[in-house]
Amino acid sequence: MTDKPVSVKRARGKVHILDDRCKGCAFCVEFCPVKALALSLEFNKKGYHPPQAVKPDACTNCNLCFMYCPEFAIWSTKIGDKE
Ligand code: SF4
Ligand code: SF4
Repeated sequence: MTDKPVSVKRARGKVHILDDRCKGCAFCVEFCPVKALALSLEFNKKGYHPPQAVKPDACTNCNLCFMYCPEFAIWSTKIGDKE
């Protein structure tokens, strides 16, 4: 049997953030397994720092950010799906 190279395609996601729903708890930032998020320096309407995608290409569409967000302010969609 010959060894063949194995190529693995990683799922990719696009992050969506509703800035004004966010209360700046940073759960999404802390739990993102690929560290794709960081809190912005900007303030939203409530006076909190919402997250931003600092490494958007790293997102794997795992949606842990969505699962941990108490405000339903962040989620991802699979790249290639309709948004
Ligand atoms: S979907 Fe997963 S990888 Fe993408 S930003 Fe959210 S937690 Fe991070
Ligand atoms: S988990 Fe939700 S409320 Fe908390 S910082 Fe992230 S987007 Fe904002």
